[in-house]
Amino acid sequence: MPRLRFAPSPNGHLHIGHAFSALSTWDAARHLGGTVLLRIEDTDIERCKPEFVEAIFEDLHWLGLSWPEPVLFQSDRFDIYAEAGNRLRAMDLLYPCFCSRTQIAAAATQADPDGAPLYPGTCRHLSHGDRIERLQRGDPVQFRLDMGAALARTGLLTFTQIGPTIADRPQIRYARPERWGDVVLQRKGTPTSYHLAVVVDDAAQQITHVTRGRDMEAATDIHVVLQMLLGLPSPLYHFHRLILDDDGRKFAKSRHSESLADLRAKGWTPDDVRRAVGL
Ligand code: GLU
Repeated sequence: MPRLRFAPSPNGHLHIGHAFSALSTWDAARHLGGTVLLRIEDTDIERCKPEFVEAIFEDLHWLGLSWPEPVLFQSDRFDIYAEAGNRLRAMDLLYPCFCSRTQIAAAATQADPDGAPLYPGTCRHLSHGDRIERLQRGDPVQFRLDMGAALARTGLLTFTQIGPTIADRPQIRYARPERWGDVVLQRKGTPTSYHLAVVVDDAAQQITHVTRGRDMEAATDIHVVLQMLLGLPSPLYHFHRLILDDDGRKFAKSRHSESLADLRAKGWTPDDVRRAVGL
């Protein structure tokens, strides 16, 4: 049976863009005769708050959405992500990076697909001795995937996409993870990045179809490399359109878009939400 998932991060209230993503996922599951699992992506322990988790449950229930299996909380699974990171380390694919954001911005000559400075690989060239010395000194560190070495192992990578609608035929696409450079997979104090946790959990929850916004399309390339390296299955991917605000920008929590709770308080019904997002 197809297994889909909705995977919000509880670092703010859900807004209409999330509602669209959730409703699209449950609609897709209905179309496929499958089910949706809920995953709370709360690895960022500073920004994620229990009250936002409660609010997510309330909003989803209000929208008439339910999930048949226990909710998976990523914050319960740091050991499992650390183990996945250790496997990459054992393959000699992770290296410590001591660069600050400012240093990276100054050294970068290209941008990644999200428009952020592309890491130029500075610390990949550190000697073993320098690495040990800086680690022992306790310098702030994060661990990056050596993308060149990773791709030398995996070879050309593809994944399967369904779209533009969930009813369309699957198509094979090439992944181009090299455009992301040496991505960060572990931080000091947090043994995982979003990318590592998401591939580990999609496999653990036996997800067959990942539905996510088009803003996550390019990042899928990173997930495909990690799946191949860790020997995990690659689900089918469907990228849905984004709901834009009045200025044509993606709804973002940081811009204080009206939350679903606000809309509910103003008397909106779940049908009003569906109409507003064109479902
Ligand atoms: N947790 C991510 C978010 O809230 C989405 C995860 C995904 O679709 O893989 O944007």
